[in-house]
Amino acid sequence: MDRQSIRLLLVMISITGLMSLTCCFKQTSQEGAMISKAFDVEKIVSLFCLTPKEITHNVDLYLADAHKKLAAIIAVPDEERTYDNTVRPLDELLILSDLAIAQRVYEALELVSPDKNMRKSAHNAYIKIQQFWINQISGNKKLYNAFIAYADAQKEYEGLSAQQRYFINEMLNDFKRAGLWLSDEMLAQVSSIKNELSALSADFDCNIAADASAIAVDRDGLCGVDETFINALQRDEQGMFVVGVDYPTYFRIMENCSNADTRKKLYHAFQNRAYPANNDLLQQIIVKRDELAQLLGYLDFASLDIDDAMAHSTERVRQFLADLADKALPKVLAEKALLTKDLPESVVLDENGLIQPWDFAYLENTYKKINFSVDEQKISEYFPMQKTIAELLDIYRQFLSIEFKEVPVVGLWHDDVVMVQVLNKAGDELLGTLLLDLYPRPNKYSHACHTTIIPATIKQDGTRISDVSIVIANFTKATDVQPSFLKRDEVRTFFHEFGHALHAILGAAEIASLSGTHTKRDFVELPSQMLEEWLWNKDILKKVSSHYQTGEALPDELIGTLISLKDLTSGYWVLRQVFLSTFALSCFEKADNKDPHLIFKDTHKKIMSSIMAYVPDVHFYASFGHLTGYGAKYYGYLWSKVFALDIFAQIKKHGLLDPVIGQKYIKEILSKGGAQDPNELLCNFLEREPNAKAFFEEMGL
Ligand SMILES: [Zn+2]
Repeated sequence: MDRQSIRLLLVMISITGLMSLTCCFKQTSQEGAMISKAFDVEKIVSLFCLTPKEITHNVDLYLADAHKKLAAIIAVPDEERTYDNTVRPLDELLILSDLAIAQRVYEALELVSPDKNMRKSAHNAYIKIQQFWINQISGNKKLYNAFIAYADAQKEYEGLSAQQRYFINEMLNDFKRAGLWLSDEMLAQVSSIKNELSALSADFDCNIAADASAIAVDRDGLCGVDETFINALQRDEQGMFVVGVDYPTYFRIMENCSNADTRKKLYHAFQNRAYPANNDLLQQIIVKRDELAQLLGYLDFASLDIDDAMAHSTERVRQFLADLADKALPKVLAEKALLTKDLPESVVLDENGLIQPWDFAYLENTYKKINFSVDEQKISEYFPMQKTIAELLDIYRQFLSIEFKEVPVVGLWHDDVVMVQVLNKAGDELLGTLLLDLYPRPNKYSHACHTTIIPATIKQDGTRISDVSIVIANFTKATDVQPSFLKRDEVRTFFHEFGHALHAILGAAEIASLSGTHTKRDFVELPSQMLEEWLWNKDILKKVSSHYQTGEALPDELIGTLISLKDLTSGYWVLRQVFLSTFALSCFEKADNKDPHLIFKDTHKKIMSSIMAYVPDVHFYASFGHLTGYGAKYYGYLWSKVFALDIFAQIKKHGLLDPVIGQKYIKEILSKGGAQDPNELLCNFLEREPNAKAFFEEMGL
């Protein structure tokens, strides 16, 4: 997941990454003071090392500064407007100003700070800044008129670059989608709804992060789970084991625990995170988003949301999802027959012969254990975290011709956080700084994501602003007796989020608003999902694995088995992604039924009913965080995966560590970020039109 200042983009309907102003007739830079901090470890620490009081105080200073910059852009007489006094300052205000960077810092602190007061101050400051964007940028007719005046009169006469022209076009479309052509009265309504949505979305995200649900079980309830894990669990006053809903715990239980009752109880707790609080919030978000879309002249929010995407229309997305479901279904049925042929003792199908959702991961894991002696827990012993990460970095080092340097750091929001500098091959240019926050803790964002704090940008004078990014994950932490082992799925997650981070760090767009991961939402998951594919290559698996006791790599035979099992449940994976995508789309499409629970029931019936039993008393959507950030565009994962696999197939022909194809990939895809039409990027890399052939092949469909 990439949080491209997600809420901001979504609520604003993406004024292309946002704008930034200032200006004055000369080429005054709109970058804030924070930019100069991106090069110095202590200064990066100082971006985050704040007290709640400082946050509250600083935000007003940044707002005052942003108001000044905005006023300066507007004040330019129309006949004197140029790219440098109108468009560039807007781009910089939106992304590189202190206000913009502070907002991303606050968004991150709200996700990761262990201090409740910090999270609260960060939350409030975030909302305050969001209101500035909504009211002063996406609802500001004077700014719109200034931009139009420039676009209409001058762009023809300046020697603009292709990226600059693309940006102007994107901005004009964004302004249109923001409703700046509406009457003042209607525009005020739009802004008011956006402000409400901003607060609702932030609360929705907060409730998910704050959920600390757990179940209590006795020792028998943990049958099948390994001793070390059980011994690390907390006990309550009655001596019962406390099993939480954090990702490592959840998956450990669901895959290994042979007590069906425990799996069922934990499944319910997990699928009811942030419920009922978010049920009500989601209903309000759905209603408000539709109101917003209709004010802006769209049929529904999905149409508005997808208008700016690669797919462009909801009809095209529906068709895409339907085609994938059709293609996946025969394989799904075959997978079900295979997994349920010999049921383990604790698994009972429902009266229609369907799998209970709390049994699926257990069934799959048991099938692999019994038939192939594949035990994911045992395999994870070949992926001790430190060593695995070092090898993963070495892959990027070779493929992308970059270097990494871990830098000692103190004073960030938590001692777990590690700082890594990314350098060019010669080691003499800093490309970006990564902050890795990889272990779960109370009140921390429970999923995995990447977020950009300062985007890599090529400045007008040719120098580079280096990226600052954060990768958040929730991997199993080391205990006194055992190092942290990464399960293959966690290694995949690491590859995924690192794919986002490298997209950001290797960005070389001249438009800050379109740099790195600031792409179309249904394109942004391409680099991340493509890198996941490295893990299905024999040589790569050999390279990254190293048993924590013997230092040996995974045995060849086991690697062969793992690769042969790649598509064991790929049909189910595709179908589930189609389900989630359809659910998200349906929430925001025009319909009589807009109750999320009814949409869930209906979508389940249409898509999942051939394999999975429907469970009425769960509310997964209350913790479906993508609903705020990705809106109707969750399908973007599948959409960009199709292209990711097309590109991967091309790279595979050259070799996964081949620096020549690596450079081509950087040049044609990563460095461009969102500063060019993604269809063009794909064609340039592939040297042909993209297609879904590799996707179907890789997925075994
Ligand atoms: Zn992602």
